[in-house]
Parts: sequence; C-alpha cells; structure tokens
Amino acid sequence: MTVTADSADATVPEHPPEVAESRSEQRRQAESLRELRSPVRWWTRSGVLVAAVGALSTLVPFAGIAELGRTLLGPGPVEGGEVAGVAAVVAAALVVGWACNGLALCLTHVADARLQALLRRRIVEHLGKLPLGWYAETTSGMVRKAAQDDIEDIHHLTAHHDVELTGAIVLPLGGVAYLLLLDWRLALLALVTLPVYLVAYAKMMRGFGDKMIQLDAGFTRVSAAIVEFVHGITVVKAFGQANRAHQSYSRAVGKYGELYAGWVRPILRLEALTSMALAAPVVALVSLTGGIWFTAQGWVTPMEALAEVLVAMIIPSTLLTLNQAVTAQRKAGAAAARIAALLRTPTLPIAENPEEPQGHHVEFDQVSFSYDGSSANALTGVSLECRPGTVTALVGASGAGKSTLAKLVPRFYDVTSGAVRLGGVDVRQIAPDVLYRKVGFVLQDVRLLRGTVADNLRLGRPDATDEEMIAATTAARIHDRIRKLPRGYDSVVGDDAVFSGGEAQRVSIARALLADTPVLVLDEATAYADPESESEIQDALSAVARGRTVLVIAHRLASITGADQIVLLDGGRVAERGTHDELVAAGGRYTRMWHAYSNAEESAR
Ligand code: ADP
Repeated sequence: MTVTADSADATVPEHPPEVAESRSEQRRQAESLRELRSPVRWWTRSGVLVAAVGALSTLVPFAGIAELGRTLLGPGPVEGGEVAGVAAVVAAALVVGWACNGLALCLTHVADARLQALLRRRIVEHLGKLPLGWYAETTSGMVRKAAQDDIEDIHHLTAHHDVELTGAIVLPLGGVAYLLLLDWRLALLALVTLPVYLVAYAKMMRGFGDKMIQLDAGFTRVSAAIVEFVHGITVVKAFGQANRAHQSYSRAVGKYGELYAGWVRPILRLEALTSMALAAPVVALVSLTGGIWFTAQGWVTPMEALAEVLVAMIIPSTLLTLNQAVTAQRKAGAAAARIAALLRTPTLPIAENPEEPQGHHVEFDQVSFSYDGSSANALTGVSLECRPGTVTALVGASGAGKSTLAKLVPRFYDVTSGAVRLGGVDVRQIAPDVLYRKVGFVLQDVRLLRGTVADNLRLGRPDATDEEMIAATTAARIHDRIRKLPRGYDSVVGDDAVFSGGEAQRVSIARALLADTPVLVLDEATAYADPESESEIQDALSAVARGRTVLVIAHRLASITGADQIVLLDGGRVAERGTHDELVAAGGRYTRMWHAYSNAEESAR
C-alpha cells in the first residue's frame, strides 16, 4: 500500500515489531484478539454499523454534484426550488455523516473504556493469584508491557481504527457502486491506477515475514550488545578495553543497519512507484483525461465525469487508512497474544476447603521438585523437620537446592511430589492470606518500595505503632542508620533514603520482625563484605530467630555454628544432617566444607 511521508512508519517500522510472522502465529494472535474483545463486541459492532451509515451519507454530496449539474446544465430553465432541494439534501447528508462519525467514535470509545477496565481488572486479579516464583522469573518490564503498553495497542484498534477502517472500506466501495450505477466505464476509470499499485505492493510485501524475522534477530543482537556493554562498563573501563567493547556494539549496529537498508531500499523504490500511481495529480490527470474522452464519446455527462474524479480522489486516502489499520491490527494482535498468555499463566491452586494450621511446625515430607516438570529434579526426596523455636540452617554448594527448598514453604512454587506441611497441614491446603500471615521471608535481593521508610517497614502490619516499629529496627540493627537520615522514618526510599545492600537487608529483616510471622525463611546475605555490616546482619538474624521456626540459607558457615540443626544439601538431596559439632566430628562433607571455609577466612584476615 502507498507509503507517503506521513505514513512511512506504517509500512517501514523504525524497529521490527515483536511479531512472529508465521501464518499460524498470526491466526493465533487474531484469535486472541477476538476473544479478548468479545465482551464489548456489541459496542464495537454498533460503532461500525453507525460508521458505515455515516460513510454512506458522505457519498450523497457526490451524487448531489451530479444531480446539480444535471439541473444547472440541462436544456430546460433552472428551477430554483429544485436546486435548493438538492442543496438541502446534500447539507443534511453531510450533517448526518458527521453525526454518525461522532456517534460511532463515541460507541467505540465506550467499548474501549469498558474493555480497558475489564482487561486491567482481569490482569491485576490474575497477577494477584500467580505464584511468587513467577515474579522471580519475570521482569517488571514484561508485566508493565502487558498491563500498559499492550492495552494501549488494543485501545488504538478498538477506539479509532474500527471506525476509520469502516469509513475507508465503505466510502470507496459505495463510491464505485454509485459510478457503476452511472456508467460502468466510470467505475473502471476510477480504479485504473489501482492495479499498478497492487502489483508494486505485492512485490514489496514478498518475503516480508522472513525479512521481519531477520530484522527482529538483528535488533535482539543490538539490544544484547547494549546490555552487555552497559553491564560490563566498569570492568571494561578498569581494564582499558572500552574501545574493544564498543566495537562489538558497533558491529551489531552496523549489521543491523545493513540488514535494514537491504530491506528498505527496494521498498523505497517501489514506494516511489506506488506513491506516484496514487498521487493526487496523477489520479486527477487520468480521471480528467478519461472523463473528457468519455464525455466526448457521449457516454457520460460532464457532471458525471466530475463525480468520477471526486470518487477516484478518495481512493488513495482510503488505502492509506487501510494500510495503517493493517499495522494497527497486527500490533493489537501481538499485544492480545501477550495478554492472553499472561492470563493463561497457571495461578496458584487455592484449596476449596482450606484448613487452619495447628502451630508453626514445618515439615518437608519426601519432597521432590522440578522447575520445568522434567526428570531433572532440583530436589529429590527431601524429608526434614523444623520445630518451633529452632533454627534450621541449609548449607551446600551453589545449585544444591537450598533456595528452592526454602521457597517451597511460602509457596513460591508447589512441590512436584511429597508435601510441605505447616502446623500439620499441607501448605497447599492453607488459605494464601493465612499462609502469608504465618510465613515471612527475607530474600537476598531485597526490594524496598518507593515510599517512606516507615511505609516499607509497616508493609506486613500497617497498624504497627511507632514504638513497635522502632523496637523492630533496633533489633535489626538499623534504627540508628534510619534516625540519621534527613527526614528519619519519613525519608523516601531512593530519594533521601539510600541504603547499601547490607542496610537494605537489615530494613527487610526489621520489616519481617514487625510483621511478626511465626515462621521465617531467611536467605542470608552474602555480598556484603565489610565486617561491620556482616556482624550487624548476624545480630539482626539472631534477634529474628527468637521464638520462631526459622529456616536460614547459610552462605557463611560461621554464622550458623549455633543452629539447632544444619542440613547439608547436595544435588537436591539431604547429604548430612546434625549440629555443627556433630557434623564436624563426623568427618564428612561438612567437615571438609568447614575446614575450607575456616582456611579461607584465616587467609583473608
Ligand atoms: P542454591 O540455593 O543451593 O544455590 P538453587 O535452589 O537456587 O540452589 O538451585 C537448585 C537447582 O535448581 C539448580 O540446578 C538451579 O540451576 C535450578 N534452578 C534454580 N532456580 C531455577 C529457576 N527459576 N528455573 C529453573 N531452574 C532453576
């Protein structure tokens, strides 16, 4: 379709869209779009119907011109009343046309507002039911895209393009039909430049899907190069390799540029041809020449020829709208497919008849778990008991399954087989709100929300008093730091409250203390090398442990020598279990780990 300067981005996108162009994918996308829009389909259909009526009444002036011509140029005397009558019909038709267009847009905007509200509600409800593990694997950018950008794409289609597209189809079809009524040759004349355009367009679109995929891959490479460059910038600069790192980015951009130019150049040439075939002067020239000839042959009257010129002139803008609508449809289809995929993501199953846990004793019973449901288990047959008022430390090499095991208690994931029980009840049988009141967790990648420090601390218990909050921050060894902030507890995180990693973890420990859950899962911080921060976190953790069932993932063995039981995991299985002294005395794997750890600590000093 024609590509003018205005519509250049309609056919030649700046970035390749994330649209897999295969036919089945497109069918799936269209299906998703239809399904998502089905609750408001009567609104959109009414809008389309009214828009069609509006487009048809916009045609009346064309007929009016021919009619006027017949009256004014006819052999008899000009009847003033007849002229006024035609003018009145034309004016009324124009008013009806505008009114219909306005009403159609009103209807589609109502459809759009309802659809947006419905989709946002469905997305938010669904997000609330997804397992926490899903959030660990999904970037906030993806969620934002679905909840905001994708809905925006569907908005354009529903609110605007449906109406515009209806006009763009009905108006020229009605126009050509009217010309057919006048004389079939006029209809042909109005369409005479169209084949040139269609052939060029078909050529332009040949291999479009493959090219898009290639471009998409090129764009992904550029993105990866940017991320790599930005992530590694400190290391790269420190080793004086900035130029070399920059080169890989330049190469990716250069390749993408070549691909893009290779795709765009032939399109631009054809585009010039298509633009010419449908340029207003060309269409007018062809129509006028043909019209004059037809009149000379006595086939049509001059006014009928003029009506043809007017109809022919609306076809280019129609094709432009069609082109934009196709792009909008494609974008909305891709957006709908992403939203549908999000809404299909399995939610955390919720028990129909939830049970109340009796106490806060945690038990893992022959637990096996695999992330992708395959045979490659992250955990295999793990059985373990954590009694109230005790600390259980999980140790083991990286990838042994410590985090996975700990995350099964707050149902980040559900076991593949076996059971995790809290107070004698399978966690899957406990209502989620009850579970989260019983189980708190402090993870390594602490997320503090943008808000005051006090709001962050009170997240689990909004009604906590200032005294209770300060007691928690004091126990978590972070009160003094917060007190020294410009606005104390009212300082805003990320604004005038900037915490180091260790400090942020102590804030999150205080938050867990304040929430006062009887079971706590802690992923001990590793990354904070400064001894002061480390010992502060240790003290904070000991404060948390008092009177609770604590499961701690230990990265520094020195911090858990006093734990009630230490469980050494290896390849997702329990390899050893006992107190520190028992395990050291046993002379097994833990003993070797302990010696290696002590030696490393020794040499670091
Ligand atoms: P640890 O905490 O002991 O370092 P993890 O529990 O993180 O170990 O990992 C146990 C195993 O599960 C590893 O093989 C790891 O690669 C795999 N794993 C961890 N998280 C995921 C995930 N989100 N998706 C798929 N596999 C994972």
